[in-house]
Amino acid sequence: MKSLGSIRRSFAPWNDPNAKPYIRFENVTKRFGEFTAVNDLTLTIFEREFFALLGASGCGKSTLLRMLAGFEEPTSGRILLDGQDLRGIPPYRRPVNMMFQSYALFPHMTVEKNIAFGLKQEGMPAADIARRVAEMLKLVKLEQFAKRKPHQLSGGQRQRVALARSVAKRPKVLLLDEPLGALDKKLREETQFELMDLQQELGLTFVVVTHDQEEAMTMADRIAIMDKGQVMQVATPAEVYEAPTSRFVAGFVGNINMFEGKVADRQANTVRITGPSGAEITVENAGDAAAGADVAFAIRPEKIRVSSKRPADAVNALQGEVYDIAYLGDMTVYHVRLGDGQIVRASSLNAQRVTEDPLTWSDSAWVSFRPDAGVVLTR
Ligand code: ATP
Repeated sequence: MKSLGSIRRSFAPWNDPNAKPYIRFENVTKRFGEFTAVNDLTLTIFEREFFALLGASGCGKSTLLRMLAGFEEPTSGRILLDGQDLRGIPPYRRPVNMMFQSYALFPHMTVEKNIAFGLKQEGMPAADIARRVAEMLKLVKLEQFAKRKPHQLSGGQRQRVALARSVAKRPKVLLLDEPLGALDKKLREETQFELMDLQQELGLTFVVVTHDQEEAMTMADRIAIMDKGQVMQVATPAEVYEAPTSRFVAGFVGNINMFEGKVADRQANTVRITGPSGAEITVENAGDAAAGADVAFAIRPEKIRVSSKRPADAVNALQGEVYDIAYLGDMTVYHVRLGDGQIVRASSLNAQRVTEDPLTWSDSAWVSFRPDAGVVLTR
């Protein structure tokens, strides 16, 4: 049997030029009076994708979701679902359902009545409703809780009722606005995996809005990183982390070091960058950086080595002083202050119990890294 992991790994319709877009935002703009919440945004989501919209508060991600659900109409541009223009189609006629952060469960109804509500409204025959509700209860593992009311459930259980209710009508697309926002950290982590399993099992397309980067990284096939009503980058979690295309995205997800400077020269995919203090680095993944351009070399802390002596084989090594050390058990994070005052963050895994090259506060230290350990950013 194929594991879920291997199924996921082979799922990449965005790399297939023949794959048909499922949800498509085309030059969508949404204005509220003078204010532009979504600005000329174009985005494609594929069928069965677990897609995350990630961004800070106010970047327009919920507005995007609400337009897809039909609670708002775009000011201009269009939204297509399976080739059909959604303009003018009311929310209840779209094959889309939305699960709100507040869950919006009916407090006076039992779990099963809550799940049955939408089906009843649709006029589904009672026997079919009973069957579907039982199926949903099983799906979210709440069979024993069918007769309870929402206040008799834990936060995680309430979340599952909301989920069961939103998929009971078998929408093609489920929209989730901060689906785990009300849960504590541990429960959030468990629930992330449950959500992923559920999405796989049902074969639905999920579009999740979140401001939590770890959550997006864990769950999503692809992430759209938004800022001020625009999409800054759409990519898989690994690409977002390893190959950000702008300083904004690089800084938004995880910790990163940026070496700012000017491109002294370029050969093939390699550039020599001179920093303001004259320090030089030679790095690959030069992107569109041309000679003379102002660029940043962005590199993650775990790709930087800290040592007391300059490593003999290092292409890039900068000298500084240990400014701070945080011992976190599994790893140690060093902050090294370079000659020009820049603080470099480097983390090293404590795979051995004893470090061969112990460093302490105020020690002279070298930070070194391989030319291909980061990316050059021009934006
Ligand atoms: P959050 O995570 O805080 O919900 P968000 O990224 O989802 O943020 P949106 O809810 O999409 O942000 O809102 C984007 C911007 O549009 C915000 O500045 C918000 O104040 C504004 N906005 C949203 N809805 C309306 C409305 N009905 N009228 C006026 N302004 C609105």
